[in-house]
Amino acid sequence: MTTTDRHTVRTTDGHTVRTRIAPSPTGFLHLGTARTALYSWAYARHFGGSFVLRIEDTDVARSTQDSVDQILASLRWLGLDHDEGPVYQMQRLERYHAVVEQMLAAGTAYRCYCSPAELDTMREAQRERGEKTHYDGRWRPAPGKVLPAPPEGALPVVRFANPPGGVVTWDDLVKGPISIANHEIDDLIILRPDGVPTYNFAVVVDDWDLAITQVFRGDEHINNTPWQINIFNALGAALPQFGHCPVILGEDGQKLSKRRGAVSVTAYQEAGYLPEAMLNYLARLGWSHGDEELFSIDQMVAWFDGSHLSRSPAQWDAAKLTWVNAQYLKQADNPRLAGLVAAQLASRGVLLPADAAVRLAAMCALYKDRCSTTVELADWLAMYFLPVAPDADELAAHLTDAVRPALQSLRDRLAALESSAWCTSDKAGISQAIKDTLTAHKLKMPQLAHPLRLLLCGRLQTPSVDAVVALFDAQTALGRLRQL
Ligand code: GLU
Repeated sequence: MTTTDRHTVRTTDGHTVRTRIAPSPTGFLHLGTARTALYSWAYARHFGGSFVLRIEDTDVARSTQDSVDQILASLRWLGLDHDEGPVYQMQRLERYHAVVEQMLAAGTAYRCYCSPAELDTMREAQRERGEKTHYDGRWRPAPGKVLPAPPEGALPVVRFANPPGGVVTWDDLVKGPISIANHEIDDLIILRPDGVPTYNFAVVVDDWDLAITQVFRGDEHINNTPWQINIFNALGAALPQFGHCPVILGEDGQKLSKRRGAVSVTAYQEAGYLPEAMLNYLARLGWSHGDEELFSIDQMVAWFDGSHLSRSPAQWDAAKLTWVNAQYLKQADNPRLAGLVAAQLASRGVLLPADAAVRLAAMCALYKDRCSTTVELADWLAMYFLPVAPDADELAAHLTDAVRPALQSLRDRLAALESSAWCTSDKAGISQAIKDTLTAHKLKMPQLAHPLRLLLCGRLQTPSVDAVVALFDAQTALGRLRQL
């Protein structure tokens, strides 16, 4: 590692890398937050540092425990394990108040008694004058300035005394150097009358106390960063490095939003995606390592040093995610898939027999190549456990009087097979029974296989018929053939 590389400079001077993810518990874990969590986590893992989880619950009206639980569950599902936390902001109010007192004493913050109505009037007048709306500093102390008397009974907010001049500059890990002039930003509220801190203040106190060294987050926060840097400086705290990742756009080029489809990790979990596929896809959505498309999380950790993060917005590509998932599904362990499919089937009310696990794993092995998600896999496997309803016209076309006797004799042959063996292992016996039936009735394979598939599976397209039949519970299959 070289000290000239701005991505690694912190690790060469003896600092331990400490990153964090700071979701607000006002909904599910958003895909954008999951992506920054992944980058923060991978960065910490790459440099042998720590990854901290903080819950930013200061929006008391919108924060819920249910949402905290969902976020924790999604991070756990993705395997983005934290080393510290969760730290809850609402449990740190005393600490914020203490820092506010320090700042008031130091003159880097002040009390402001403007009522909302007064602020509205102020902004209205600014708009009329064609100015950008801003707080005009009427309660900001200054040498020789006489402040108004605090209105009786009014509860003040506390504002940060932003430096009046100069420029805030930082070298963004994603976007490169960024500068914003201080006259562009006003004295922001850091503490509300109810004693709850605002985001820009709490985030600084937390990142300072937690000794965070790199902050990865969405670029909707870029406008907040100058304030945060100024507050860090006012506190004499070491600045972290900032990396602002561009928004994720939906397939229509608009910001990914609920109205345009699934935006939560939970939705993809429920839709049958595998966590390792989600991680791989999210990693590539704004970061690259050469042309690599499919890589394990360990591989990503080995590569991810904060470089090669994309400056331009990434576009969500559902088809690509599905493709990535299909690749992982093909390689996934069958017993593991069986567990996932069993959960999918259970959510559809399918009660699996106690001994179904082995059979289910064999089914996953047979069908996973033609599926992209575990939901699709469950769609296929449901026919082994739930009654099927073949299309009447298809049945009429394939279950002809000419074929019916052959199917009856196949059923007898199958019934004669050792039924205990007819479970995942007797493909050869079933294959022989089918061949013998074809010979005896002078039929071609499709003439028998089509109606057989319709009766057993309710559909014409399946993997090879002997393999499909072998996975049936013997009684279930014979029962369906008895309807002839
Ligand atoms: N709670 C903020 C969010 O969810 C965190 C922003 C940050 O990482 O500083 O957007």
